[in-house]
Amino acid sequence: MGKSKGNLVIAIDGPSGAGKSTVARILAERLGYIYVDTGALYRTVALKANRASLDLGDEKALESLCRSIEIDFRPDPKGIRVLCDGEEVTDEIRKPSMSLLASAVSRVPAVRKALLGLQREFGKKGGVVLEGRDIGTVVFPEADLKFFLEADPRIRGERRYEELKAKGEKVDLGETIREVERRDTSDRTRSLAPLKKAGDAVLIDTTHLGVDEVVAKIVQFCRPKLRNCGP
Ligand code: C5P
Repeated sequence: MGKSKGNLVIAIDGPSGAGKSTVARILAERLGYIYVDTGALYRTVALKANRASLDLGDEKALESLCRSIEIDFRPDPKGIRVLCDGEEVTDEIRKPSMSLLASAVSRVPAVRKALLGLQREFGKKGGVVLEGRDIGTVVFPEADLKFFLEADPRIRGERRYEELKAKGEKVDLGETIREVERRDTSDRTRSLAPLKKAGDAVLIDTTHLGVDEVVAKIVQFCRPKLRNCGP
């Protein structure tokens, strides 16, 4: 496939470790689309709230934090770089301590509301692959294509462990698997925009699939829509 095929909005949702980020990034690259990692937005809010020692029960403070910060994505050969108010926070927001905090922050209605507008802004022109937990259900319910990636919880924990280890983090496999499970439970059971498959999303179980196989499957589903986008 060449560059910039049409202006589709493609939603990829699923739990941690299902392979969303890598797959979404490669897919966006192949289509010449923008890649939006919506989890990075929640992680950045968590980082800022943590630095400011905000009480996560203080919804007003969290709301004004969300409204005052500027988050930007910059393309990078290894993924994307995340900037907050001009400061590079890419590595800091990926630390394990930020994962559970991001999940906690994402339960706060004012935070979800503030980030909803931002996510829609990123996607409004189309030609975008958005990856997260509620893209197909809440952020872009009218997305042209929706995918929901799942995988066995142990495999997801192992993938997350390998990913953190490769970044030089000191991590324990058992603890990482438990952390992934805790976060999933929190994301799936929250009352607002819980992690769930949209009725019209294509379910892909990535337990026994490599990244290239998942991308190939997704591209297959994209082809008919892309053909309708003209030359
Ligand atoms: O995708 P990632 O693991 O970086 O997301 C961190 C956390 O942000 C998730 O566990 C989830 O609680 C929250 N999130 C969300 N909605 C999204 C993306 C992420 O609630 N669209």
